[in-house]
Amino acid sequence: MKVLVFLEQRDGKLKSSALEALTVANKMAKGEATNVAGLIIGDNVAALAAEVKDYGADTVFTANSDGLGKYNVLGYTAAVKAACDEFKPDVVLGIASPMGRDLFARCAARLDAGLLTDLVDIDFNGFSGGVKPMYAGKVLANVKFSGSGLKMATLRPNVFAAESSTGAAVAKQLNVTIDDSKIKTLEIKKGKSDKVDLTEASVIISGGRAMGDASKFEILHSCAEVIGASVGASRAAVDAGYAPHDMQVGQTGKTVNPQLYIACGISGAIQHMAGMRTSKVIVAINTDPDAPIFSVADYGIVADLFEAVPIMQEKFKELLK
Ligand code: FAD
Repeated sequence: MKVLVFLEQRDGKLKSSALEALTVANKMAKGEATNVAGLIIGDNVAALAAEVKDYGADTVFTANSDGLGKYNVLGYTAAVKAACDEFKPDVVLGIASPMGRDLFARCAARLDAGLLTDLVDIDFNGFSGGVKPMYAGKVLANVKFSGSGLKMATLRPNVFAAESSTGAAVAKQLNVTIDDSKIKTLEIKKGKSDKVDLTEASVIISGGRAMGDASKFEILHSCAEVIGASVGASRAAVDAGYAPHDMQVGQTGKTVNPQLYIACGISGAIQHMAGMRTSKVIVAINTDPDAPIFSVADYGIVADLFEAVPIMQEKFKELLK
């Protein structure tokens, strides 16, 4: 089985989830790196190919042009089509990011392919289908391709682990003709936050209902400054208006996979844990020793978060001096 993986980059930086998709592709191709290719689209992106060396692809196509510097679904679709014409894959994989959702829908129509989106599990044997959460995660649906044409799929970020595997990742430039007469991206305006997006963050400190007020999140932001963390929240905190929805971690929020996740005043409901349980190290601070969050925590602190967080912050400062 030949698998092409769209490796998403923003501002010249590959998304960490690109490596997750490559790992899935390599498993589908039963470890044969010649049957896996990556695709990087943008301007000045040729050097990024080397970054996926050792992730199981022998070839990385690059569509490198000024006209592709700012995401434009028409130009990107032309690049995916050019890569498919060259590599002739059976499967095209990407990530269910905002860009992936937009791009894969158009590509599937353009390439007359079947499309499964937001998969959290995959049938690796022949890739006949997979599993996707629906109705805000209330059900997990088994979804399958019908017919025998090209298969396309997006994977939910931070669900599949990235694993290294041999692959030369030799860059191969594609010639892409970009017709920008219908859509031209003039400017991309970033959100106000200068913090790393939660799905990409390697350290996260999150607050729950126990924060009690939006202004009290300040103690988490202050601690986050010291350790270079991004700040997250439980749905209870978001619903109460203490934090915006883009900070919500969990089944109906973001799925995160940091090296360190610090949960402050979060009980550990199953829907919250669905979004953070794969974090490498979990620290929980809670006044209730029986809170379910302690069942997944590597380190548990039974304490009032308003006392514990400032003490931790001071200790972090000393250690990071
Ligand atoms: P609580 O459950 O109220 O817990 C607060 C905790 O703070 C308690 O354990 C308490 O002991 C502790 N505490 C209180 N005071 C202090 C203090 N001073 N110091 C330290 N600890 C203290 N939830 C999500 O988070 N993300 C989701 O994406 C999500 N999606 C959902 C989807 C569906 C379909 C449904 C039905 C629910 C969803 N929920 C989600 C909600 C989830 O079920 C819980 O209601 C929510 O996670 C609870 O948030 P919490 O832990 O902040 O609040």
